[in-house]
Amino acid sequence: MMMRSISVLGATGSIGASTLDLLRRNRDAWRIEALTANGNVAELARLAREFSASIAVVADEEKLPELRDALSGSGIEAAGGASALAEAAGRGADFTVAAIVGCAGLAPTMAAIERGGVIALANKEALVSAGEIMTAAVARHGATLLPIDSEHNAIFQCLQGNAAEHVRWITLTASGGPFRDWSWERLSRATPAEAIKHPNWDMGAKISVDSATMFNKGLELIEAHYLFPVGLDRLRIIVHPQSIVHSMVEYRDGSTLAQLGPSDMRVPIASALAWPERMDTPCAPLDLAEIGELTFRKPDEERFPATRLAREAAQAGGGIPAVLNAANEVAVAAFLNGQIGFTRIAAHVEDVLGSFAPPAPTGLAEVLAVDGEARARARILMEAA
Ligand code: NAD
Ligand code: MG
Repeated sequence: MMMRSISVLGATGSIGASTLDLLRRNRDAWRIEALTANGNVAELARLAREFSASIAVVADEEKLPELRDALSGSGIEAAGGASALAEAAGRGADFTVAAIVGCAGLAPTMAAIERGGVIALANKEALVSAGEIMTAAVARHGATLLPIDSEHNAIFQCLQGNAAEHVRWITLTASGGPFRDWSWERLSRATPAEAIKHPNWDMGAKISVDSATMFNKGLELIEAHYLFPVGLDRLRIIVHPQSIVHSMVEYRDGSTLAQLGPSDMRVPIASALAWPERMDTPCAPLDLAEIGELTFRKPDEERFPATRLAREAAQAGGGIPAVLNAANEVAVAAFLNGQIGFTRIAAHVEDVLGSFAPPAPTGLAEVLAVDGEARARARILMEAA
């Protein structure tokens, strides 16, 4: 295989670490262009040196001097701040892993798309916020968007070789999160520490809380709506506590294709890195006899309203998914800080959605404006509550 260049946006996070673990095992296949982080300069510099990156970018500009120090003598370029982040992302690497958490990843992801390479997308909040604008940019710039969110990667694999017109249902599986069997009363007392402890996956704090509220599945429903435009009424969610079946596609003839694998993000990441080929991973092989049982049940939107709110936001379209995402980001941060209770997260998102109907954004700047306004309203409503 020819050597390809790669940038990892969000290199110090959970997806970043899984990606770099695979790259570390395939050093001959990849040249590392940019590695980025929000503020963890020590880890970023360590990774940039290990992988001989061309440039390391810290989003928090105040930390640039510290990064310069940490990289001195290495010949690795150091940069800081949001515009440096987008500039580095837009340097035209053959392959970009978009693994920043939140809408903060939108501008750099768009910069990579505009250079027309392959973009492996973990950063679902970016696509949820800018769905139509991002998918239009992918088409306009001849970029390739490969999903590495496990469900969407599964669906992508199950759709290969089949025309979308034959799809009857796309079913996203959901673990249901750590609280799937909790009563409403118990949910109202859930703590951040309890929410972050996911039974199947080891993930960043924000997505762990999203998994507990089911906003993760709500965001993924919107993500699927933009990635696989078969119509919102063909997208369903099913709770599957074992997280082995990562999603399914049912065709009009009654055939259902599913993708199965261990709960290890290196599997979908490897599928994107090697696409359309395959590569080895160190992941444990799937031992279904050991697992024994795969179970499925309907989601409960009474206790977990997030998927209903997300479906309504996707139906409304325009800037509404960006409002839902921004309100959720603010609410999750407030929950993690101990400012609001667990069941207030969805209630708060619903309040923000009810208070604000922005015009449909027509470009990146408008999406960022909707995101900013929704955050401001989310904070005001939170103070008032
Ligand atoms: P994480 O919190 O572990 O890592 C986030 C990364 O983004 C870090 O490198 C951090 O430095 C960087 N970052 C954070 N805020 C930033 C900002 N304002 N500007 C620039 N960089 C910033 O998160 P994660 O679990 O790796 O998730 C990353 C993305 O992948 C999220 O969108 C998440 O929903 C998605 N995802 C994660 C998993 C998983 O298993 N972790 C699975 C599917 C999808
Ligand atoms: Mg997922």
